[in-house]
Amino acid sequence: AKERGRNTYAFYTGEIADGLQERLAMETGLRRALERDELLLYYQPQFNAATQRLTGVEALLRWRHPEQGLIPPNRFIPLAEESDLIDALGGWVLRRACAQARAWLDAGLAPVRIAINVSGHQILHQQLVEELEAALHSNGLSAGDAAIEVEITESVLQGVEHSGKVLQRLRDIGIRVAVDDFGTGYSSLSVLKQMPIDTLKIDRLFVRNIPDDTDAKAIVSAVISMAHTLGLRVVAEGVETSAQLGFLREEGCDEVQGYLLGFPELPEQIALLLRAQGAA
Ligand code: C2E
Ligand code: CA
Ligand code: CA
Ligand code: CA
Repeated sequence: AKERGRNTYAFYTGEIADGLQERLAMETGLRRALERDELLLYYQPQFNAATQRLTGVEALLRWRHPEQGLIPPNRFIPLAEESDLIDALGGWVLRRACAQARAWLDAGLAPVRIAINVSGHQILHQQLVEELEAALHSNGLSAGDAAIEVEITESVLQGVEHSGKVLQRLRDIGIRVAVDDFGTGYSSLSVLKQMPIDTLKIDRLFVRNIPDDTDAKAIVSAVISMAHTLGLRVVAEGVETSAQLGFLREEGCDEVQGYLLGFPELPEQIALLLRAQGAA
């Protein structure tokens, strides 16, 4: 740790230089990670709220750093988004997810929906649709084999004109669209109604405060009924307690995801879950 010495000027420039150096090292490291196959996807199960059957998984990126161990996405995705690295990373994620869908099918498991997080940059930079199509095709997947869902954040909906077109093209090739972290941005009802989307994911921020906080409960109930009115499926994320699950189920929330029901896991664990469920 640094000591705040008398020479605060030197201290601050030192800090800034360190920050820059750290970012540069991170960027170089990430490029190498792509070349050296240090990235991997974990998969967190999503369940039908009423039946608790597994309905899908969300792919979550990790970086297995040779010295630092497993690095979570919040530590490198924002940085990648500031450079063109996010396109390379995003491309890798969707190819990996499609290859995984193929591997699970080849293992004799029932098709499972895979949700992929997509950054706003990938929507802007156009090649997302072609890349997904290519990834599905090269793994011999058709829409029926692997339901791929793309998760975007509310900010993407702001560029209604352009994003709407991209999302529509995704849906045309059988890919579903989910709005992630819903409630943390500023999407208006009319935007939601206009956009070609299938799913709303209620942010953990709201789920965390049920059932004690009456405001959080009111918001969650309102979002569920509004979404259903618009014909959207609702997934609640960050479900950690059975009280939360009970409330969500009563309110008619379609699906749930969270540590109460399952952590992000390696593909082998998901295969076990799918197998156990198939046998039940
Ligand atoms: P997210 O899309 O909102 O993903 C959910 C995050 O919440 C995940 O963190 C997950 O591990 C965590 N989580 C799940 N259930 C619970 C719970 O019950 N309690 C708590 N406290 N947390 C829970 P993770 O894997 O660290 O991912 C963080 C964020 O990084 C993601 O947030 C997403 O925005 C981003 N991300 C992850 N993978 C990708 C990717 O492949 N591409 C892009 N662009 N972003 C990604
Ligand atoms: Ca997500
Ligand atoms: Ca989320
Ligand atoms: Ca989030």
